[in-house]
Amino acid sequence: MSSLHTAGRGMYAGFVPGFVVISGSMFAGKSEELIRRLKRWKRTDLGVITFKPVLDTRSENITSRNGCSLEAIEVHASAQMIEFVKETDKIIGVDEIHFFDPDLPKVLLELVRMGKLVIAAGLSTDFNGEPFENTMRAMALATEVTIEFAVCDICQSQYAVRSQLLVPSSSRILVGDKDEYSPRCIECFEPPSQTPT
Ligand SMILES: [Zn+2]
Repeated sequence: MSSLHTAGRGMYAGFVPGFVVISGSMFAGKSEELIRRLKRWKRTDLGVITFKPVLDTRSENITSRNGCSLEAIEVHASAQMIEFVKETDKIIGVDEIHFFDPDLPKVLLELVRMGKLVIAAGLSTDFNGEPFENTMRAMALATEVTIEFAVCDICQSQYAVRSQLLVPSSSRILVGDKDEYSPRCIECFEPPSQTPT
């Protein structure tokens, strides 16, 4: 090991264990921000490992809508992540946390207690504007919360924080893109559950 590393500079410079949550609506750039942060850590000697739920069918990588992507391990259950993480993995990226089972916040907190920096991204609310439990709980337990905003499709507000469902569905976990969802600010958002049919 070089004297630079043992002196505490270089290898671990800037690393602090913690729990970062990146939240917001669809099309807000959550995955893009997650990838940006993880790629910065990939330039260091610290191990970076990234997970996503099997449910998201976009690809086996984490892909942002602007075309950035990062290799990710697909897991069926949040507890599986612990099995993959090695001692040398210091940065844990997790995308689409709203799609995971309810154990997710507990598992992420356990990783933080193991000395890891967890950076997790997830949708804040479903198509009815109701908070996703995993994201809500993760945000409450986090050491840093970042909200990303989309641009409202109706009034061009820079603060779109809701995902308007454009097709008939009763599933909270409908994976979709611009044909299925539209970013809306709070004023322009119309929760389907409150709209007469
Ligand atoms: Zn609007």
